Amino acid sequence: MELNAMAKIVVLGAGTGGMPAAYEIKHLLGQEHQVLMVNERDHFRIIPSNPWVAVGWREPDAISIPIAKYLAKKHIDFICAFVTKIDADNNQLITAEHDVIDYDFLVIASGPKLAFDAIPGAGPEHYTQSVCSLEHALSCKENVDELIANPGPVLVGAFQGASCFGPAYEYVFILDKVLRDAGIRKHVPIQFITSEPYIGHLGLDGIGDSKSMLESALRQRDIKWICNASVDYIEKDIMHIDELNRKGNIDFNYSLPFNHAMFIPPFVGIDAVANVEGLCNKKGFVITDEHQRSTKYSNIFAGGVCVAIPPAQSTPVPTGMPKTGYMIESMMTAVAQNLHSIIVNNVEPAYKGTWNAICIADMGDTGAVFIATPQIAPRNVSWFATGKWAHLAKIGFEKYFLLKMKSGSSEPLYEKYALKLMGITRLEEDKES
Ligand SMILES: Cc1cc2nc3c(=O)[nH]c(=O)nc-3n(C[C@H](O)[C@H](O)[C@H](O)COP(=O)(O)OP(=O)(O)OC[C@H]3O[C@@H](n4cnc5c(N)ncnc54)[C@H](O)[C@@H]3O)c2cc1C
Repeated sequence: MELNAMAKIVVLGAGTGGMPAAYEIKHLLGQEHQVLMVNERDHFRIIPSNPWVAVGWREPDAISIPIAKYLAKKHIDFICAFVTKIDADNNQLITAEHDVIDYDFLVIASGPKLAFDAIPGAGPEHYTQSVCSLEHALSCKENVDELIANPGPVLVGAFQGASCFGPAYEYVFILDKVLRDAGIRKHVPIQFITSEPYIGHLGLDGIGDSKSMLESALRQRDIKWICNASVDYIEKDIMHIDELNRKGNIDFNYSLPFNHAMFIPPFVGIDAVANVEGLCNKKGFVITDEHQRSTKYSNIFAGGVCVAIPPAQSTPVPTGMPKTGYMIESMMTAVAQNLHSIIVNNVEPAYKGTWNAICIADMGDTGAVFIATPQIAPRNVSWFATGKWAHLAKIGFEKYFLLKMKSGSSEPLYEKYALKLMGITRLEEDKES
């Protein structure tokens, strides 16, 4: 491509990472270059609000906005299409309708494919519920209504290979509150079943006092737990689980009955991305350099859950490292700045994401917040706190998140909102860089 010729940047996926990426890229590149968003649906959804949808605390309209309307305000184009193939050698996306979308640069922000098929009987098509998509959360809500009408044992957790543990904890605490409000908690024994080696590990080997604080929160609510759990298979109302010891051998077997079960699955890359020769690791996640650029295709960048990150440590039952909002936001800022470097300044990418984690988790009527900088220990900051303020902060964050997606602001949400909320004006950057 000639320097300063009009470049066409296609963003694949209008999710938590893709929407801000499109706004930031357009903001930096201006009208001389085209930014086109391609997403399978015409609405953006706030995925972190799904646990509230699953218990009827949010309606879909409250957490969704039309993509085309808001992108158009910033002169970003939109095609609603399901991408079935990336032809990386010819710089093209192929859609389910066999349309061809050309690009000069591709930003992959396609999030996860939910690998329920790794566990027989798992997932909403079989016997367990999920909060990973809006459709799943709505179907979970129906199952929660049935549970309230017909109380019985509940299992909540994260399957082997999962990396996103936060929503499992959120859901178990939220559901506990729903059942207490309905006055039927005494009829519903709840167990938290997790592949983590200990409660509060979160795929990050814990953050601050996350182990004792989350154990305490579970104990206070009479929620029992099993760690190092590997689910063997699931029948209609019974789950077969192996609990492994530190050597990875089976210590105990359980066959637990349930009326309701919600489990987070392992994530892998979506097919269109995973099938590109040389682009991904064996899980279908994009292998990038520290500038979010594919190590194989120099005009492909990636950010968010679709990026390959090795686990923080090996655990008896496999777990992965979570890719959370702040990290995703900063990856996307780096993508936008690196595209600007290449397209406008004709220099090599130099920007890197800040691999830190900031999370606000709802717990029904209280909440938890953690900061991990960097994400992997040992850290400069390792902070975990709970309180009612965190519950309110999560509600505030949802509103702010939606506003950002509507306004097209390229201001970093986490630094503008989440950190201020905690009285921190700016995360200390890595002093060595
Ligand atoms: C239930 C849940 C709650 C979470 N809560 C939090 C939280 O509170 N805080 C936090 O920091 N992190 C949270 N996370 C983790 C993470 O922030 C989210 O998963 C986040 O949405 C990931 O962003 P993403 O852009 O990588 O993917 P996504 O937001 O999933 O976006 C991917 C987009 O790509 C589109 N797409 C996929 N395949 C195709 C295709 N073939 N063709 C066209 N379009 C396609 C999808 O429709 C979607 O719009 C949560 C995750 C889950 C699952």
